[in-house]
Amino acid sequence: MKKHKVVIIGSGPAGYTAAIYAARANLEPVMFKGYMEGPGGQLMTTTDVENYPGFPEGIMGPDMIDKFEKQAVRFGTVLVQEDVIEVDFSERPFKIKGTKTHCLADSVIICTGARANRVDVPGSRDGELWQKGVTACAVCDGAMPMFRGKPLVVIGGGDTACEEALFLTKFGSKIYVVLRRDEFRASKIMQERVKHHPKIEIIYEHVLKEVKGDDAVQSAVFEHVGSKKLLELQVSGVFFAIGHTPNTNLFKGQIDLHDNGYIKVMPGTTKTTIDGVFAAGDVQDFVYRQAITAAGTGCMAAIEVEHFLRGAH
Ligand code: NAP
Repeated sequence: MKKHKVVIIGSGPAGYTAAIYAARANLEPVMFKGYMEGPGGQLMTTTDVENYPGFPEGIMGPDMIDKFEKQAVRFGTVLVQEDVIEVDFSERPFKIKGTKTHCLADSVIICTGARANRVDVPGSRDGELWQKGVTACAVCDGAMPMFRGKPLVVIGGGDTACEEALFLTKFGSKIYVVLRRDEFRASKIMQERVKHHPKIEIIYEHVLKEVKGDDAVQSAVFEHVGSKKLLELQVSGVFFAIGHTPNTNLFKGQIDLHDNGYIKVMPGTTKTTIDGVFAAGDVQDFVYRQAITAAGTGCMAAIEVEHFLRGAH
């Protein structure tokens, strides 16, 4: 079985940045891009990325991933278009099993990312109004022209929902925040800001049933959890803020995870609880979750791999 100095699992901004740095350090990185979940990660379902420095006109998420890939390949990254289905970190070198390719690795960088949770109802799905007004990231999409001066709805009652609702007040004419319970999960300070904002109206105990519209969102239909009475809000945007799920199933029982499923790293580093296994990007970040922060930690991981391999040999 072939042995590599470093194997990168995942192909979002963290993975490609790690690959670019590792390749330029002559570590000949091999990247398992993923297949079933869709290589490229969350940027592949993002339209305009307007907050990543270096792209003053903005760039489409998939185009950005394409550029990252070209840059990683230019310096010699080997791409494997497969999902990793099993890892074994119990002995060295580590074992990585793809759907077809099996290999050994002196070090591993995990960049498998996270998925924004969505409410699965008619109208909200891929091929319907998803990314045509239904989104899971206000910070990424909120400033788009289709949302400006329009009523919008944020679904969720956590800190993210509050933060997104407050962010959207800069663009929308009115922001509804819809919770499934009669209270917020968010911190008191965030709740207070939302409750006192003149542009925000809070609707408790309602769940999304349908998103309506042809090519763009026209309304969202909610049901009261008790009476089942329907409420249709005329909105141009539906923003899910109901948490994320990190893609860490593969690593359960092998490295330490936080209670929320994210990989534990030593603060200020990308080092996991296993020497030689590093984690970068959203798979270890439940606070910032931005393409730029993912890229930053991907860079850190590659530099830490270089130090690790130098020490190991
Ligand atoms: P969260 O705290 O888990 O909150 C998720 C919210 O979504 C809850 O209100 C939950 O309702 C609701 N929800 C979940 N599934 C739903 C569904 N199917 N339909 C409708 N509502 C649903 O997630 P988060 O807000 O993303 O925050 C994650 C972590 O990051 C937290 O620790 C948070 O404090 C932190 N964070 C901090 C900041 C900050 O400090 N500025 C900003 C963002 C996030 P229930 O309450 O009924 O379960």
